[in-house]
Amino acid sequence: MASAPPFESSVPVGYPPPPSYEETMRQPYPQYPQPSLPPVPGYDKAAHSPHPQQLCGPPMHPPPACSQPASVTVQAVCVQSTVVFGSQPVQTHCPVCARFVVTRLEHNSGTLAWLSCAGLFIFGCIYGCCLIPFCMDGLKDVTHYCPSCNNVLGVYKRL
Ligand SMILES: [Zn+2]
Repeated sequence: MASAPPFESSVPVGYPPPPSYEETMRQPYPQYPQPSLPPVPGYDKAAHSPHPQQLCGPPMHPPPACSQPASVTVQAVCVQSTVVFGSQPVQTHCPVCARFVVTRLEHNSGTLAWLSCAGLFIFGCIYGCCLIPFCMDGLKDVTHYCPSCNNVLGVYKRL
């Protein structure tokens, strides 16, 4: 009498046999089916699609290349002098005698001296004290002369 071999496995009858160890290791993670969500009413899928042109507005054009001028016009600017004339002698180039000289100063009564005199006169200095500003070089304009040819190189005005 043929009898079934003895059932040594502990798997109950009616269930498929469990996968072997090799099959289990080939598929380390079980493959679950992706649940299909029902469509949400009012959700426009096209409006929410991550399309770069729709997210960033109008399509971006590449920046225009910096256009170099075809020809660079070089203007030869003849700078006569960049020396700032102040209340002190400066070393500059005299265009008349074509030499580098240290200017000679001459003080002249300018606007600031006259305004100081008027101010002192208004505030009561009417007995000659209002003439003090004409004796102060710090209130006068300064004229820079060339010590060689007495050419006027520059004028420094207080006001
Ligand atoms: Zn000179």
